[in-house]
Amino acid sequence: MDNCLFCKIIRGEIPSKKVYEDEYCYAFEDIAPVAPTHILFVPKEHLSGACEISSENSAVVGKIYEAIAKVAKQKGLDGGWRVVANNGADAGQTVFHLHFHLLGGRPLGVMCDNI
Ligand code: 5GP
Ligand code: ZN
Repeated sequence: MDNCLFCKIIRGEIPSKKVYEDEYCYAFEDIAPVAPTHILFVPKEHLSGACEISSENSAVVGKIYEAIAKVAKQKGLDGGWRVVANNGADAGQTVFHLHFHLLGGRPLGVMCDNI
C-alpha cells in the first residue's frame, strides 16, 4: 500500500529498529515504548486491522504468533508477556495496518489496565 506507514517501514522507506523478519512478517521496536520490551509485529501483506482477518489470510496470524513466541524467548521475557492488537478507533488503533504489540519486561497489570 503506497501511503501506509507500516508498509513503508517494511519496504525500508522509513527507518526502523528491526528485531525479526521472515517471509510472512516484520518486527520492529515501537517508537514510543510503554514497556521495557515493546515490539510491533506486522504481516508483510497489508491488512488494515484484525477486522480483515478471514479464512483466506488467517494463516499469517499463526505465523506471527510463532515469531512472537520466538522473540519473547530471545528477549528473556520469562516472567510473562502480553500481545495486544487494537482494532478500530474506539480501541485506540492509530496505524491502519494490522499489528500486534508484544509487551513485557515489567508487571503489566490486569486486563486492559495500564497496557
Ligand atoms: P496502535 O495505536 O495503532 O495500536 O499502535 C501503533 C503503534 O505504532 C504505536 O504504539 C506507535 O508508538 C507506533 N508507531 C507510530 N509511528 C511509528 C513509527 O514511525 N515507527 C515506529 N517504530 N513505531 C511507530
Ligand atoms: Zn500497510
